[in-house]
Amino acid sequence: MKIAIVGSGYVGLVTGVCLSDFGHEVVCVDTDQSKIEALERGEIPIYEPGLAELVKTNVASGRLSFTTDLAQAVPVADVVFIAVGTPSRRGDGHADLRYVYAVARELADAVSGFTVVVTKSTVPVGTGDEVAHIIATANPDADVTVVSNPEFLREGAAIEDFKRPDRIVVGIEDERARAVMSEVYRPLYLNKSPLMFTTRRTAELIKYAANAFLAMKITFINEIADLCEAAGGDVQEVARGIGLDNRIGSKFLHAGPGYGGSCFPKDTVALVKIAQDFGSPMRLVETTVSINEQRKRAMSRKVIAACGGDVRGKTIGVLGLTFKPNTDDMREAPSIDIIQGLLDKGARVVAYDPQGMVGAREIIENIEFASNSYAVADKADALVLVTEWDEFRSLDLGRVAAAMKSPVLVDLRNVYSAQEATKHGFEYVSIGRPVGVDGKPRPGEAAV
Ligand code: NAD
Repeated sequence: MKIAIVGSGYVGLVTGVCLSDFGHEVVCVDTDQSKIEALERGEIPIYEPGLAELVKTNVASGRLSFTTDLAQAVPVADVVFIAVGTPSRRGDGHADLRYVYAVARELADAVSGFTVVVTKSTVPVGTGDEVAHIIATANPDADVTVVSNPEFLREGAAIEDFKRPDRIVVGIEDERARAVMSEVYRPLYLNKSPLMFTTRRTAELIKYAANAFLAMKITFINEIADLCEAAGGDVQEVARGIGLDNRIGSKFLHAGPGYGGSCFPKDTVALVKIAQDFGSPMRLVETTVSINEQRKRAMSRKVIAACGGDVRGKTIGVLGLTFKPNTDDMREAPSIDIIQGLLDKGARVVAYDPQGMVGAREIIENIEFASNSYAVADKADALVLVTEWDEFRSLDLGRVAAAMKSPVLVDLRNVYSAQEATKHGFEYVSIGRPVGVDGKPRPGEAAV
């Protein structure tokens, strides 16, 4: 099949590359000329494991190409995916649909013959209707059907997720789209990934419901972690104890500094707005949003408490900046609020991240960067582990402690154990776990 992908960011590029790897002929379109030029030179504008190799193979096979010219890519395409951003609208938190609608207007004039237009961007319920309306109004002769096919991939594991998804959700309003979308995903279907057909509105709702549910699950375990700190329990044991129940499941039960990233924060807020618009408020999600917002700042108070209540003039080393490992994405990363909270209280912050420092430099002012994990620890008064990159999981703790002014380790991802850290002389603070010899929380461990 001939496929055009409009928007070649994290989702569009991965979608395009994987579909070309399935054997389709794919053109990735983007308005960002420097991005397209970089891709044409074989440079990958984002960090995503395995992506560079896959781009190279499929470009070499002639199945994958890049352009800024939508009008050239779309007329020959059987299927056009819209994968542009839907960020939070400034001021009210609604999904900002201007990029999606701009693409719809461009497509109206560019399509030729029967074309399936697929919204892959995360969009509020009813957006597909509006995209169809825009195209039909601008070009009444266009033979187009609009499909909703939300994406569930996770950055850092995007290729694996795209090629081996738990399910593919396809919302259609025209039976002709069923055969086309089945053909697009045929290789996955053969791999037994369930292809679920539903209505367009339902598909749009499934995406927001999935993200909101996962955000709630994370927030739930974070609150249980606070209770564990106050009451003297161990959140990891609680998570294991409940996660072994098949009705609950063990995933997304890792207590931490709060969720961040390019999806959960904006999608939960957008769902709250959608629900309010329909007069059907989602109070669980509203509460999740507010708990998570407060939690990120509370983490900087936790660090300050671990430093004896004052960080003025102290050097705090930060390990990890991106919202999760294996990505360079800094959007809404908890590190931003945590670091800002420390800077506001007069700390000097030195950070290291394997992929996030370029992005962080644009977002956080007055932060310094180190060249590796050990350089971050150099003469630091405390070290905070914010993102659980693999390389932070097996640090030589003796070497880290020796480099520091005072060995305080605030482990916001529970990567280490109290036993391990204290053996190397660390004062160790983690999330939702007792650290005292007697198993009771220390003052620094008190719920924040
Ligand atoms: P992104 O910001 O990385 O990429 C969007 C791209 O669209 C950019 O390269 C931008 O230049 C391009 N673009 C904007 N307007 C355009 C136009 N008129 N024509 C062509 N290109 C245009 O965004 P992303 O993270 O890939 O997210 C895209 C959508 O997918 C969003 O709705 C997001 O919520 C959803 N989503 C993202 C993820 C994720 O992990 N990032 C996962 C699932 C769903």
